[in-house]
Amino acid sequence: MDKLKGEASAPKEGKASEGTVQPPLDEKEDKGVFDFLKYRTLSDSEVREIIEELREQLLESDLSFDVTEKILEDLKSRVVGKKVRRGEDAARVVIESLKSSFQEILEKEKAVDPLEEVSISGKPYVIVFFGTNGVGKTTTIAKFAYAFKSRGLKVIVAAADTFRAAAQEQLAYHCSKLEVPLVKGKYGGDPAAVAFDALSAAKSRNYDVVLIDTAGRIHTDRDLVEELRRIVRIVKPHRKLLVIDSLSGSDAVNQAKYFAEAVDFDGIVLTKVDADVKGGLAISLVYEVRKPILYLGVGQSYEDMIKFEPSWILNRIFG
Ligand code: GDP
Repeated sequence: MDKLKGEASAPKEGKASEGTVQPPLDEKEDKGVFDFLKYRTLSDSEVREIIEELREQLLESDLSFDVTEKILEDLKSRVVGKKVRRGEDAARVVIESLKSSFQEILEKEKAVDPLEEVSISGKPYVIVFFGTNGVGKTTTIAKFAYAFKSRGLKVIVAAADTFRAAAQEQLAYHCSKLEVPLVKGKYGGDPAAVAFDALSAAKSRNYDVVLIDTAGRIHTDRDLVEELRRIVRIVKPHRKLLVIDSLSGSDAVNQAKYFAEAVDFDGIVLTKVDADVKGGLAISLVYEVRKPILYLGVGQSYEDMIKFEPSWILNRIFG
């Protein structure tokens, strides 16, 4: 990571390293006949060399191989032939360009924040959560329940994973701590019925928010797809969120693609990023599934969820 970190902190374009201010490259006076004395273009071979080094460092930051290749190919076509000041560090120019393309990727998918949207939506505001077992789905639902409740809203939770007793117990534990009602079904019962009951209870008891947990047995289970689709059809949620464990490596992208195809979703909550996550996975996820990351899970307590900002990823990757 040394190269990425070291070069990224170099002076910004438009300023000479000696501290004297230089005009931007596109100003008229820079197009004079002596241009070549001040400027040069980045050559294919020097860019190639820098990119080789970047490739290794991006892969170390947990970017997937495919995404790394695509991003670097794109980067190369943008910087080869670029006009730079003589004496300017080529690596710095390439890294700055890479940073802005990361920023672009992360900002391209527009995120709607459920904690803000709730105030302008009809009541009750319904969110369905998807995700494979163990990713932190139950904890994330509890964190959302806490966040909505802290905003003075009445929350009800539906335990629509009727096949996993542990999931219901875990949810019941959090709900009782948070003093939030939980609608449960019979073991093996119809998950869509549980979701529907929670929605009906919310309507009749004037609740503001319904949070629905769903099953995440294995992500190649056909019945599960039908089960999730049915829940969505019946409760018509305002938002569908996918919970992804940031420690699940390359499988995370497969999970996201699977759920995107099965039920589609609006955004991602990336959990466990407090566990020394390197950041590249977030880029791979957004690039591959074209969905925004909304929140990050940063610990096991209810307050440990922060709104996602691209700068978080850029700081992790570039230091
Ligand atoms: P589920 O099977 O997807 O519902 O997963 P759980 O919500 O039960 O979480 C599995 C484990 O991950 C539990 O021990 C949680 O406390 C832990 N966990 C969930 N989110 C986070 C997080 O953001 N950071 C950390 N460090 N642990 C988390």
